Amino acid sequence: MGLLDGRAAVVTGAARGIGLEIARVLAAEGARVVLGDLNAEALHKAADDLTASGADVRRASCDVTDADRVDALVRTCKDEFGAVDIMVNNAGITRDATLRRMTERDFDTVVDVHLKGTWLGLRAASLVMREQGSGAIVNISSLSGKVGNPGQTNYSAAKAGIVGMTKAAAKELGHLGIRVNAVQPGLIRTPMTEAMRADIWAAKEREVPLQRAGTAAEVANGVLFLASDLASYVTGAVLEVSGGRGM
Ligand code: NAP
Repeated sequence: MGLLDGRAAVVTGAARGIGLEIARVLAAEGARVVLGDLNAEALHKAADDLTASGADVRRASCDVTDADRVDALVRTCKDEFGAVDIMVNNAGITRDATLRRMTERDFDTVVDVHLKGTWLGLRAASLVMREQGSGAIVNISSLSGKVGNPGQTNYSAAKAGIVGMTKAAAKELGHLGIRVNAVQPGLIRTPMTEAMRADIWAAKEREVPLQRAGTAAEVANGVLFLASDLASYVTGAVLEVSGGRGM
C-alpha cells in the first residue's frame, strides 16, 4: 500500500530537478501523475523514464504563465485520471542580478513565472477540487522568500509572495476540504544551482547546520508529506526543507 494509492496529481516544472523528483516520489507512493513543463524535449524524456520504471504518467507541455495552458494541464489530469487530488506548483526560474544590473524584464519574468504561475495553478486545481470536496495543493517557495538573498530581489519577493498566497488560499479553501501548504527548500543541488562557483557553493554549505546541501529527493519527501493524509490536519503551513539554514 502506497501513501497515495488511487490519487491523481499534477506537477509543474516536472521535466527535471526538484519537480521530476516530486513526480517520481508521488508515483512511487501510488499516485498517477501528469507532468507539465516548458521544456518539451526534457519533459518527453522524463515521462518515458518514469513510465519505464512502472509509473502511470501523462505529460503536457505547459508554460505556467499562460492561463489556457495551465487550465489544459489540470484538465488533462481530470480527463485522464478522473480527478485532481494533488497539485504541486513547482516550476521556477532565476534571473539573478544586483539592483544596479537587474532589468525590469528580469523582475517581471521571475514574478510572472513564480507568482502568477503558482496562482494560475492554484486557481485551476482548486476549481476541480471544490467540486470533489477534497484536494491538497503544495506550492514550492524558497528559503530566499524568508530570509532574502542579495542579487535575488525579484526571486525573494516572488517566493515570499507565494507564502502569502498559500495562507490566503488555505483560509479560503479549508471549508471545501482543500488543504494548501508551501515548502521552502534551502540549498538544493539541481540544474538550477549547478552553475554556482564551487567556492561559493562550499561557503553556503558551511552555513547549513547539517553541513551539506539537500537533495531533490529530500524536498520531494516534504511535498509527499503535505500531499498525503499524513498531513490531514495541516494547512497554511510553510515547511522548511533547508538542513536548518535560515531558521
Ligand atoms: P530547475 O532544475 O531549473 O527545474 C525547473 C523546471 O521548471 C525546468 O524544467 C524548467 O524548464 C521549468 N520551467 C521554467 N519556467 C517554466 C514555465 N514558465 N512553465 C513551466 N515550466 C517552467 O529548478 P529546481 O532547482 O528543480 O527548482 C524547482 C523549484 O524549486 C523552483 O520553484 C525553485 O525556485 C525552487 N527552489 C529551488 C532551490 C534549489 O536550490 N534548487 C531552492 C529553493 C527553491 P526549462 O528547463 O525550460 O527552464
